[in-house]
Amino acid sequence: MPEGPEIQRAADALSKTIVGQQLTRIILRYPPIRRYQTQLQNQTINLIEARGKAMVTHFDQGLTLYSHNQLYGLWQTATPSTPLLKNRQLRLELGSDAASIRLYSATDIEFLTPSQLKQHPYLGKLGPDILDPSLVSQDIVDRLANPRFAKHNLGALLLNQGFLAGIGNYLRSEILFAAGLDANIRVEALTPKSRWRLGQVAIKIANQSYRHDGVTRPQSHYRALRQQGADYETARFWVFDRAGEPCYRCDHAIAMRSQNQRRFYFCSECQPSP
Ligand SMILES: [Zn+2]
Repeated sequence: MPEGPEIQRAADALSKTIVGQQLTRIILRYPPIRRYQTQLQNQTINLIEARGKAMVTHFDQGLTLYSHNQLYGLWQTATPSTPLLKNRQLRLELGSDAASIRLYSATDIEFLTPSQLKQHPYLGKLGPDILDPSLVSQDIVDRLANPRFAKHNLGALLLNQGFLAGIGNYLRSEILFAAGLDANIRVEALTPKSRWRLGQVAIKIANQSYRHDGVTRPQSHYRALRQQGADYETARFWVFDRAGEPCYRCDHAIAMRSQNQRRFYFCSECQPSP
């Protein structure tokens, strides 16, 4: 499932394609939203934002389109003449005379009024977005001090979208490796230094992935590996999907275990068990 950095890049591409243009081509194929067809004609999209793992599209006359892709949804940027994808179901298309955005296969799609937007069950529960430019390490340190998270282990905490929105499974492994912390450590057992470190690296790793197409390692390391012949998937991560390979810091073999029902990759030397 795409994580915050991938959703944010998709939001950037959709925004660049359609924000500010008058909509003259509205196709709503998904039955639960069909009745908005006429209402949207000639409206303009003001803003498209990634919120956690959802896409939130704001129209100039107050309506908002909420969509969550889950495992199968896909957004596409297109021109009116771009052929439809063959193996997916078109749910909606919003286009001007020059450009279009299309959503395929998703089923979690709804139009919201301003008051429905404020009370939305998914959006209302999200914590601060890990890619929000105003988020600083201290905000994360403050959230770690909230008693509602004290008993969580770090593996569960980082996947909890109410703690921080936008972190998924690969970011969890990468952030905990960079912080030198095992996923079984409970929040209440973290030292002040570890809390600060976790806050710092969570922001750094997520932004690095956003800016550099999903690569969480420093660009110099990544490029050096690519020059030696490694492919993108092999070179992009510190630990994720690297079970049995040597740790880039200590040469110890990377291990994988199931943690909170999801794959967790780690180095037991760099991330000692509690
Ligand atoms: Zn290591």
